Amino acid sequence: MYGLWKWYLNKSFILKISTGFLLGIGVGLIFGPSAGVLAPLGDIFLKLLKMAVVPLILFSIIVSINNTNPKELGRIGGKIFPYYIITTALAVFMGIGIAKLINPGSGLSLPQNSSMDVPEAPALIDVLMQIIPTNIFEALANGNILSIVFMAVIVGFAVSFMRHSHEAQTKEWGNLLLKLMEAGSEVTFRILNGILQYAPIGVLGITATTIGNQGLDTLSALAKYVFASYVGVGIQMFILFPIILLMFRVPVIKFITNTREAIVTAFVTSSSLATLPVTIKAAHKAGISERVANFTLPVGATVNMNGSAIHFGVGVVFAADIVGYELSIGAIVGIILAGTLAAIGTAGVPGAGLIGMSIVFTQAGLPIEIVALTAGVNVITDMVFTTCNVTGDIVGAAVVDQSEKKHTIHPVEELTRKVASK
Ligand code: ASP
Repeated sequence: MYGLWKWYLNKSFILKISTGFLLGIGVGLIFGPSAGVLAPLGDIFLKLLKMAVVPLILFSIIVSINNTNPKELGRIGGKIFPYYIITTALAVFMGIGIAKLINPGSGLSLPQNSSMDVPEAPALIDVLMQIIPTNIFEALANGNILSIVFMAVIVGFAVSFMRHSHEAQTKEWGNLLLKLMEAGSEVTFRILNGILQYAPIGVLGITATTIGNQGLDTLSALAKYVFASYVGVGIQMFILFPIILLMFRVPVIKFITNTREAIVTAFVTSSSLATLPVTIKAAHKAGISERVANFTLPVGATVNMNGSAIHFGVGVVFAADIVGYELSIGAIVGIILAGTLAAIGTAGVPGAGLIGMSIVFTQAGLPIEIVALTAGVNVITDMVFTTCNVTGDIVGAAVVDQSEKKHTIHPVEELTRKVASK
């Protein structure tokens, strides 16, 4: 028994997770909706991952703020946020462009029965205001990720100021707090390693249930919409991201090889947040420095959604086609703006894009019943949108890390400088 466990532990994560995925497809196809009995297996996996996400975000942000000096941190933030905003806006634009070529909505009409479940569109300003928590314990308990990120940044800076205080007592407390956070981060990663051993079974459960429930009928009705979404994501993943990586001299093939576990996990979980633990590990494996990865990735998993942005672009054209609405240049600019903000406000959980899409539709004056129409195939499109979201986060981290390298003085170089200055 022990030998079997050892054998299992030594097998690569990607092999195990792919086996779970393929078995899941098989089971789903053979048993159809009754494969749903396996749903709890998948739920256990997602719950375990989510359980680790709050401590992970809290500890890794606080620790990484303290491992980076404020000047560096400002520089990293000053690079990563423009990257998020520019790539997201481009992704909305690209989604619109691809959908314009494919015309996914042609031939379809507005569903007669409009009493469908339409996600409620919260006002954009409300989404942004929610970032500041009125009660930190409530934010932690409810898993309100944006608020937790906000809080972690504040606590991280406060601890850093304490550690640099002139008062011995305050300094000592600051150092003690940081040690505690580092220990917390270590224990979270250890627990995560255990959780990931369960991943293949969880993936089997998720895939069997999804494939079993997803009748081929919905898919064929909206096939063009699904196709446009996949093409958009394909362009972003296989053309735009490699171009960005090459521009910053990051070797593309090596990058994909090192990060594939995160890419596959995003695909099967449809959740950037649930994937975050794997994303951070993959970034470390890809050689991205901890100070960049541990700060940018939790933030990225929360605010950077390139795939969701493509979703909004494709969705808007799809709806405009159905209702016969001509998109003017002005309307497109407005949609890019609303789409970018909605993507930032989209949570990294399965199906969250549907809420973002209703925000964009409301801004664009399109009927949100069409969001409900696409909800039928959202499980299939969400997989690739999430994959794109997570890949975008790691590409951002890699790019910033690469550009940070010129600011890091190699120890030998530092020594040479010291000797030369004597
Ligand atoms: N499921 C996506 C994610 O977690 C968000 C979305 O639905 O667009 O990244």
